[in-house]
Amino acid sequence: FVAGKRKATEVAHAVWRSIVQRGDTVVDATCGNGNDTFALLKMVSDDTGRGRVYGMDIQDSAIDSTASFLKMAVDSREMELVELFAMCHSRMEDIVPKDSPVRLVAFNLGYLPGGDKTIITVPETTELALQAASRIVSSRGLISVLVYIGHLGGRDELDIVESFASSLPADAWVSCKFEMINRPVAPVLVLLHKK
Ligand code: SAM
Repeated sequence: FVAGKRKATEVAHAVWRSIVQRGDTVVDATCGNGNDTFALLKMVSDDTGRGRVYGMDIQDSAIDSTASFLKMAVDSREMELVELFAMCHSRMEDIVPKDSPVRLVAFNLGYLPGGDKTIITVPETTELALQAASRIVSSRGLISVLVYIGHLGGRDELDIVESFASSLPADAWVSCKFEMINRPVAPVLVLLHKK
């Protein structure tokens, strides 16, 4: 799924497509402008109304932007499969129903493109959110973390994500990292697959 992909986001989406199935429940932990939420919705929605996307972002403007994008891009039937929350992703367990196995939790860290660049994900809450994600993701599910290292603080976030990834027990998780080695500031994709 890597061949021909030029952007880390494209690689991430290709990985998600190989794991996520129609009818699944997934979490977009950083909705931003809704591109990932849209991609996830298209992966989970089916004709019977199954499939759920729980999306969250700390900024009201990002939730508004995601909602507007989805309203233009999908029909009302698919729209019903999405729930959006303006909140910190460290509290994701408050909104995802306990009886819903979660196939994927997707993080796309950093700031809102086109928005306030001072509001960014930070290591402290990212770590709490990764811990929460590891508790709700199902067996054979995935936590996907796209880390932008080109902006101030990005390397600190990568450190915390890698440290979390390496702390997961090897008998229950496979942690790996995808980076474009001829593009030193391209985003790094960290994948945590639960056995
Ligand atoms: N996935 C988005 C898309 O497809 O457009 C891009 C996400 S953007 C790179 C990162 C987002 O994380 C920003 O919109 C920012 O507001 C959000 N964010 C920052 N801290 C957060 C937190 N603690 N909880 C949830 N979202 C957060």
